[in-house]
Order: sequence, then structure tokens, then C-alpha cells
Amino acid sequence: MRILLVEDERKVASFLARALRENTYAVDVAETGEKALELGTDVPYDAILLDVRLPGMSGTEVCRELRQRGIEAPVLMLTARGLVEQKVEGLDAGADDYLTKPFVLTELLARVRALVRRGFHSGNARLRYGDLELDRHRRRANRGKEVIPLTSKEFALLELLLLRAPELVTRSEIVEHVWDCHFDSETNLVEVYVNRLRQKIDHDRPAKLIHTIRGVGYRLGALES
Ligand code: CA
Repeated sequence: MRILLVEDERKVASFLARALRENTYAVDVAETGEKALELGTDVPYDAILLDVRLPGMSGTEVCRELRQRGIEAPVLMLTARGLVEQKVEGLDAGADDYLTKPFVLTELLARVRALVRRGFHSGNARLRYGDLELDRHRRRANRGKEVIPLTSKEFALLELLLLRAPELVTRSEIVEHVWDCHFDSETNLVEVYVNRLRQKIDHDRPAKLIHTIRGVGYRLGALES
């Protein structure tokens, strides 16, 4: 899942970005409202974390403008000092939720999980397909009784495939949701990661779940469906 973090304080931004990445999200950081608007319009983010107080355009203005452009990504406003007017303004501007600074990291992560789930219209903490199960809170996967250890990128990739299963996910959708702006589209990283995931999920099992749609992307499902 890919997140846009809009925060002008560098220390805060890098701390939050690192924490989010450790929790398997791909993260792009924008330091100004103008940059946030540009990225938010171009990239289909799964959630946007938007600081209210930014130099130039405010977070509230960014949110309002994104909504006017038809961008529906869930937005979490980060408001200062719990000012009631800021919260009301943010919600009026189309934000989905707000969190008052200072906040604890675990609460931010819980809100982000809730937002991303809302965006995908899937309230499930566990995603299942056949005997494959992904626990999104505990961040682990298993097939039957066997626990499958996954790296954060493998987790994000499997989550996306499961959310869509048994439908196709295109290669460019994978790039957009699992990687951040620094992804080099010339590389074959997607293929490499899908193959690693396939080794873990399907190796030595008669019922293969991950299928390649040549030249287009991948789907997770029983072969016949
Ligand atoms: Ca700020």
C-alpha cells in the first residue's frame, strides 16, 4: 500500500516515513502543499497523511483541492494542538479522519490501517483465499498451518494480490501501490519479488495460487476460476 506523507518538518517526516516503511507501506514525502497536490493528483495513493500547518498552501486547502479534482484517496489530517476549528475545517474540506499532534506512533499506524481498509472497502483484518491467510494486524501469512515469513515488500505485494483475488492486478498497479517514487520502472524488480513470493507461497504445493498473465500482470486464485 502506498502512502503520501505531507509534512514540512524534516525530522518528523523522516521519522514517520521510516516507521511506515517498517510497517510495509511504500511512502512518498512531500514537504509543501504544492508538491502534495502534484503527487496526489498523479499517483493513486492508498492513503494521504496531511499536516495542516504547511508553508504556503495549508493542508486544509490541499485536501479541498484534491477533492475538487476528484481524488478520492482517504485523507488523515494531522492537526496542531487539537484546535477544534482545524478539525472541523479539515473534515469540511473532505478529510476522512484527523489526529492531533503530538500523537503516539501506534495510534497513527492504527488510523492508517483503518484508512487503507476503508479505501479498499474491505474491513477485514484477515484476508483469505483457499488455505492462504494474511493477518494484516499481526503482519504475517500462513498457508494451512504453516507460517510463511515475508519481507515487508512481499507482504505488501501479497496484500494487494489478495485484495483483488481472483482478479488480475497489472504490473503498473503493483508498481503504483507497492513501491514509492524512487522505483526505477526499467528494472525487473516486480518480477523478482513475485517470483520470491511464489517460491514461498506455492513451492512444493499442488495447488498453485499465483499466476502470471503474460505481458499484463498477475492474479491470485485457483487456476480454473
Ligand atoms: Ca507543519
